[in-house]
Formats: sequence, structure tokens, C-alpha cells
Amino acid sequence: MQLYKNHQLKIYNSLSGEKEVFKPVHDGNIGMYVCGPTVYSNVHLGNVRTFMSFDMIFRYFLHLEYKVRYVRNITDVGHIVDDVDDGEDKIAKKARVEQLEPMEIVQRYTVDFHDVLNQFNFLPPSIEPTATGHIIEQIEIVNQIIEKGFAYEKNGSVYFDVVKFNENNHYGKLSGRNIDEMLANTRDTDGQSDKKNPQDFALWKKAEPEHIMRWPSPWGVGFPGWHLECTAMSTKYLGETFDIHGGGMDLKFPHHECEIAQNEACTGQSPVNYWMHANMLNLNGKKMSKSTGNNLLPGEIYSGGSPFLSKAFSPNVARFFMMQAHYRSILDFTNDGILAAEKGFNRLMEGLDVLKDLQPAAASTLDIATWKQACYDAMNDDFNTPILIANLFEGIRFVNLINDGKETLTAADLKMLSDTLNTFTFDVIGVRDEKCAADNSEKLDGVVEMLIGMRNEARANKNFALSDQIRDQLLALGIQLKDGKDGTTFSI
Ligand code: AMP
Ligand code: ZN
Repeated sequence: MQLYKNHQLKIYNSLSGEKEVFKPVHDGNIGMYVCGPTVYSNVHLGNVRTFMSFDMIFRYFLHLEYKVRYVRNITDVGHIVDDVDDGEDKIAKKARVEQLEPMEIVQRYTVDFHDVLNQFNFLPPSIEPTATGHIIEQIEIVNQIIEKGFAYEKNGSVYFDVVKFNENNHYGKLSGRNIDEMLANTRDTDGQSDKKNPQDFALWKKAEPEHIMRWPSPWGVGFPGWHLECTAMSTKYLGETFDIHGGGMDLKFPHHECEIAQNEACTGQSPVNYWMHANMLNLNGKKMSKSTGNNLLPGEIYSGGSPFLSKAFSPNVARFFMMQAHYRSILDFTNDGILAAEKGFNRLMEGLDVLKDLQPAAASTLDIATWKQACYDAMNDDFNTPILIANLFEGIRFVNLINDGKETLTAADLKMLSDTLNTFTFDVIGVRDEKCAADNSEKLDGVVEMLIGMRNEARANKNFALSDQIRDQLLALGIQLKDGKDGTTFSI
């Protein structure tokens, strides 16, 4: 029987403002869409935190043996500087500044994004669609919204009519805004803009001659508005109703509010059952951000090359630091905070090492089943990783008591303790076993040394066919041998 059948999971739904019992649309299956990065610059640690929150959630679903389709897009067109409709596309701007093709910018920063996520041990999503790969689907949605009477065309651009939509729907229900207040607090368009109301947003924008990213459409040559891509890609891959839509807290408005409006305008209902928002990583009390430069890049963490850091930290430690906060809480990045996380992480790893050598006894003096349940209870309560981690430390306390001969466990309880600690640490929190990686690299060095010895022996016996075979096969694996006067060395 799948593990999820034994667990009642509660998820905080940003739309209702409450923790709700999670019930997927299709029993045993989960469809989750998370807004991905706009690939016009290197991701900073704040971006990493949001994606890590959803990686942890994805991991826990997989651990519970759900079948998950996790879609995380790449925004490679349509995201306008400052999120206003009349600015410049972020990618087009960067391409102009660097004198590159927009797709060269997209490629460069998509590769950087994947490299960073690999460093932090992320699982890849099931589908990673791009906005530019779904222009036809986006045009189709604009057509539908126009047909339903909630959008209008003006001078080659198409705008969503927020006021008309709000007559029978509630624009602002996710972010708790009120359209009348919004209209009262913004200047009218002074006839300067093609919009009927300043709150209207672009579904399709006419491309001016200098705009390099452009596609033909029924309204002329142009490009899609930012909010449209997620409506198109989420429903294309997850269906008209799906379980979870997530993103950073700062995407609630306008991005997700506009997505809801687009969907409701088309089909009369929002496809999303649970809206989830991950909170921000701050630096110096302010949100880390690409545009203000108030941020830390992952490379600065590994190298320690930032005035905010006293030393370098491994991606594992940075991951552990972020997992010690609940995903819905703001987290302040401080050097003291990550130093403390490093201590905690090392204590956890040392404890797991001691655990490997513990011996079972005839009887148990500790209640491992209750402790294990507490680990699940923490995760089932809206993915409460700080409480989970506190429980993992309690498990390590048990390990040390057993090691000191003060408590005992039967073989079955010892296995339960070990399986639970290892599963939550490596599969759910998602840190890598650094000791294991170091051990493996030592073992690899040993094997290569052994092969060098065998090759030397073959050469001494004039068996050059074998010695060349060893050299060539190692090279094919990326291990290069170099013969010098002091013997053979290698590089991996
Ligand atoms: P962007 O590439 O700007 O679209 O951002 C990618 C993701 O990172 C979005 O989900 C944002 O909400 C999220 N994000 C941006 N800044 C921060 C931050 N300081 N802390 C956490 N998440 C962030
Ligand atoms: Zn999105």
C-alpha cells in the first residue's frame, strides 16, 4: 500500500488563507506547477530559496509515493522590466546591452540555473516548458478571452479588461486587493496609453520595429504578456483543473492574480485547487533582488567571496540553513545564521556516521515509533521542516545515548531509527551525504592507483596492448594519465 494512504497532509492555501486537508484531483496523482526563473541573469540565493521550497515539497510527495507531474517553466520572453506593460522585455534588454541574440541570453542563464540547482541537489521537474515554445497556445487563449468579451484590441496590442471582469468576478481575491481602491489610487491613463483603465494588463503587445522578439498573430506582429505563459503551460500539461500552483510570495500580485483572471475569463473557473507561496530570503533586512544588487550569488557562498561572509560554505550547508526555516516565513541571511547551520549540519552528519556502527539489543528502552510519527506529523502540517529538523536532532540524541550504552534498541527499532533519519535527511530535506562523497572520491583514487600499478606491470612485461588499453579506457572515462620522470600521475 502506498505511503500517502497513511497520511493526512495539510497545506496552507494562499487563496483561502487557511491550512486545508490536501485531496488531489486524481487519487494518488499530483499535478504541480511552479513559476520558473526569467533567464536574463544569474540566479541569486533568494531565487534558489523559492525553488528549493518546492523541491522539498516535490521530494516529500515522492517519498509518500504519489505519482507527481511537476511542471516548472522557463520564462524566456514577456517579462517586462518593473512588471509594467510599457517597459522593455528583460531578456530583449539584456540582449541589446550585451549585443547578443536573445536566445543566447536565454541559453546562458538557463545553463547557469541548471548548474546552480545541481549544486544544491535539486531533483529535475517532470516538464520544463518555455514561454517561446508555447506562442500558439498563448494566442489561442487570447482569442478565447476576446471571444468571451473580457479583452479588447487597441493598436495591435490586446489588453485584459479588469473592470469588466470584476463585474461578476473578484479581481484581487488572491492578494486581498480591491479593484475600486486600486483604481482610486492610480492615476488614470491621461489618454497616453491604449488601456481603458490603468489596472488592465497586456495579453499581447505590439512589437515596435526595434523589438527583437516578435511573432505573427491575428493582431499583428508582437509578443505575449508575461502572465499568459503560465496560464497556457499549466493547463496544457496539467489539465483544466489541477492540484497545486506555486511561486514566490512576490508573484501573488500581479502575476498570479492575472493568471486567475485569465483562466476564469476563459472557462468560468480557476484550474488551481491549492495556491502555495514561498516566502522571501532577505539580506540586510531587505529582499534579495536582482535589480537592486542586494543579493548573494551561489558562487559567492561556495567561495566565501562576499563581504557578508566570514568563510566559504558548501551548498549542503546553505540548503540546510534554508530548510531550518519554514517555507512561509521570511528568512534573513546572516553569517552567524549560516555558521550555526554548519555546526548543526555537521552534528547531524556525525550522528548518522555513529548510527552505522550501533549494535541491536534484546529490548528497546526508547519509543522510536512515536518519534518517527512526530517526523511525519511535522511534514504533514504544511511541510514544517524546522520542526522536522528538531526531530532529526532528537533522533541523533538517541543515537548518542545508545552509543554511550545508556539506552538500547532492538534490531527492528534500530532499523526504524536509521531508515527514518536517513530518509528525511537525504531524500526529503535533500542534502547530500558529504562524507559519502568524500569516501567515494578516496575509493576512486585508490582504484586508479591500482590500475596505474597494473599498467606499469604490463609495460614491464612488454604487454603494450594491455597497458594502452588501460590508459585509453581510463581516458574514455575522463581520467587522464600523465607519464613523468617520477612516475605516472592522473587527473580526473
Ligand atoms: P524571477 O526570475 O525574477 O522571475 O524570480 C524567480 C523566482 O524567485 C520567483 O518565484 C520569485 O518569487 C523568487 N524570488 C525572487 N526574489 C526572491 C527572494 N529574495 N527570496 C525568495 N524568492 C525570491
Ligand atoms: Zn508564472
